[in-house]
Amino acid sequence: MSLELSERLKQMAPSATMAMAAKAKELKAQGRSIISFTAGEPNFNTPDAAKKFAVKAMNENQTHYTVTAGAIELRQAIAGYYARHFDLKYDAAKEIITGTGAKQLLYEAMGCLVNPGDEVILFAPAWVSYYEQIKLFGGVPVIIDTESDNYIPSPDKLEQAVNNKTKIIILNNPNNPTGAVYPHDVLEKIARIAVKHNLIIINDEIYERLIYGVNYLPHVLKLVPDARDLILNINGVSKSYAMTGWRLGYALGCEKIIKGLNSLQGHLTSNTSSITQWAAVGALTEPEVELEVENMRVEFGKRRDLAVKLLNEIPGLKFTEPSGAFYIFIDISNFLNKKLANGKIYKDDAAFCNDILDEKGLGLVPGSAFLSSNHVRISYSCSEDDIIEGMKRLKEFLA
Ligand code: PMP
Ligand code: GLU
Repeated sequence: MSLELSERLKQMAPSATMAMAAKAKELKAQGRSIISFTAGEPNFNTPDAAKKFAVKAMNENQTHYTVTAGAIELRQAIAGYYARHFDLKYDAAKEIITGTGAKQLLYEAMGCLVNPGDEVILFAPAWVSYYEQIKLFGGVPVIIDTESDNYIPSPDKLEQAVNNKTKIIILNNPNNPTGAVYPHDVLEKIARIAVKHNLIIINDEIYERLIYGVNYLPHVLKLVPDARDLILNINGVSKSYAMTGWRLGYALGCEKIIKGLNSLQGHLTSNTSSITQWAAVGALTEPEVELEVENMRVEFGKRRDLAVKLLNEIPGLKFTEPSGAFYIFIDISNFLNKKLANGKIYKDDAAFCNDILDEKGLGLVPGSAFLSSNHVRISYSCSEDDIIEGMKRLKEFLA
């Protein structure tokens, strides 16, 4: 029997973040000492309030399908959060949908908005899944590199890239993998370009609670309110509330787009788990959770400082200090194409990441997965002890 996978799938690269995290977990399960700087997932526990709401939901038999968009109580909780936190009004019944992680909602957004040949602008380095999701729907990713601009998108370069095929701009602020937080004037200029050319902004703000130095980021819509119908906000509980495994993301936007997402999701997963939905109501509405979220942010800030300090002690590495999320994107070009301590020469970041995991038990993600070769991404969402040990292993490997 000859089995042929679809052309669509053959053109898709698997998720490098998930693949590297899985490989690190597998080696750990074999008894190896592994430090994983791979997947970005907080090592904190889910807040008790969320767990209590989940248990209550189970005991009260809230264990059936909900409507596709999610229980109205959850959508009201999300509307309440956006009103409280960003001073933005969204209609819980018509302008909000919840799904199985921000990742699913991003996929649905591409599915609802991208026609074959449509151009989607991405600022690189960019999170692994955008590029593949765009291509899955026949879209054309148009990449604007930000490396020479300190990882801040250039509105001028954006304006130059826009043409009559451009449909969407993807914004991810704070950014994965660079940790960059975009200045207000840049956000404002980007939104004005979107309004001028009638482009949709997919605004992935999953890391909005993780910023260091300041504790509040103005929402792009507060800067350019005219862009309201063009902006689709994507967010979720994974990162802010340490709830990656529960799988709950949300999208907020104009009724037309949310209705589209709803139709697509109705044929995909229907609602996300009802128990998860109630856990998220707990996370978003119980007052004590705010303090827990703030404590996690402060902890991540300390880990960032530690990781930056230790990286600065390794000669030859180059990186821009991050201000948000929990990643550092490191230029390793000084260590490629030359013999390292183990006697080997690495031509690219992928080979480098494979060997440092095999030899040193240190999991990193290659920059090429984020459309930026000769780099590696570290996630410092693990414990301080792991950061110290992981940096020691990196230093030895590069010696
Ligand atoms: N967007 C970005 C930029 C991310 O880093 C992630 C990582 N998990 C997601 C979306 C998806 O998050 P989730 O599906 O866990 O909500
Ligand atoms: N977003 C996280 C990361 O970039 C988790 C993995 C994923 O969703 O790709 O590591």
